[in-house]
Amino acid sequence: MGTAMEQLKQWIEEGKRIVFFGGAGVSTESNIPDFRSVDGLYHQQYAYPPETILSHTFYIRKPEEFFRFYRNKMLFPDAQPNRAHKALAKLEAEGKLSAVITQNIDGLHQKAGSKKVLELHGSVLRNYCERCGEFYTLEDIMKMEGIPTCHCGGRIKPDVVLYEEGLDQGILREAIYEISHADMLIVGGTSLVVYPAAGLIDYYKGNKLVLINKDTTARDSVADLIVTGKIGEILGTICGIE
Ligand SMILES: [Zn+2]
Repeated sequence: MGTAMEQLKQWIEEGKRIVFFGGAGVSTESNIPDFRSVDGLYHQQYAYPPETILSHTFYIRKPEEFFRFYRNKMLFPDAQPNRAHKALAKLEAEGKLSAVITQNIDGLHQKAGSKKVLELHGSVLRNYCERCGEFYTLEDIMKMEGIPTCHCGGRIKPDVVLYEEGLDQGILREAIYEISHADMLIVGGTSLVVYPAAGLIDYYKGNKLVLINKDTTARDSVADLIVTGKIGEILGTICGIE
């Protein structure tokens, strides 16, 4: 184990109120690709960049194209939690971790057993009719084709925050509360360039800010510890997850 890993392990052992803040990199080890990652296939299939397709305006104006992208690039009903998800659930069960804050919308933290998960960008597991408010599961959506439609005729909207839409203020407040009361903040799988990630970590007041990432991030200079590598491998090894 390298020095950075040993330091991280020691801090986690000492931790009583750890908060984890995660981005897309946490889910890539569960084979959920970051939709922002540009691949050749994507360019052949879609005439617009993902940030355009996943905007509120686009969702309203071109729902068929929106849901074609959404179904192909955002829904992974068979994905399973990886070692990072399991390690965090274990730390919470042991009373060491108080919250997971995530930018991911795949529900994998809950699937791993985490209870306190603050989903900044919502979840594909929740869907609501825009006309009557009826709730639909991901399975319901998967059974439908094209634009998911309620029995009342209304369009069903995934409970995910699209570009141009504001974050849920209640969840944001909770995230700020948890971060500002944390004795250790672990940030993983995010390059910390996308709002609000970069701003949220500024609420941390302690001296155990850890960044775990495969590459350097925009905020490496403010970290107390940087661990480079795959987050599942790092947290899995430290927490004894196979
Ligand atoms: Zn309805």
